[in-house]
Amino acid sequence: MRTRITVRPTGDRTNDLRVAANVRRDLWAHSPVEIDPDHPLHGTHRDEQERAYFEFSTGYPDEVTRVLRDYGHAERVEVREVEEPVGLACQNCGNVVGPVLPPVCPNCHFRDISACPVCHHEVPRQSYTRIGGDLFRCPQCHSQVRLRFNEPMFLGDGTYNQPLVVVEQA
Ligand SMILES: [Zn+2]
Ligand SMILES: [Zn+2]
Repeated sequence: MRTRITVRPTGDRTNDLRVAANVRRDLWAHSPVEIDPDHPLHGTHRDEQERAYFEFSTGYPDEVTRVLRDYGHAERVEVREVEEPVGLACQNCGNVVGPVLPPVCPNCHFRDISACPVCHHEVPRQSYTRIGGDLFRCPQCHSQVRLRFNEPMFLGDGTYNQPLVVVEQA
């Protein structure tokens, strides 16, 4: 079981990361926590609401609660258990939002996939149902679409050509 610590937004994205770093430091120094070897998620990430979070595993949740309280972090963070698998990382910055990679990264705003060309909904890559080959079905409008990687994949300056995945009407 993994534990996720989410920083309550302070209104300043850089300050949120500072809070996350301080909480991590105190937890690692003063309680028995470790990166879950089955679900390794290293570093601080941003969830779908752009809140900073990190994860670890521990057999001693009471110790975690005590450290958060003793070091003055209890009001700054939310603690919850997570069971869902670790999702795909943003190709651009490595951020992991949660089990599903959203169309646009909340950390660096990189666009992973274009909107559905039929209904114009923003649909994550994993939410399309594969029919066969590059043919998929949109979960919103149930139209058949084709998914392909953008070409060229990289621009002249070495950055990814956005979106990484292009959705076309089939
Ligand atoms: Zn990103
Ligand atoms: Zn659609």
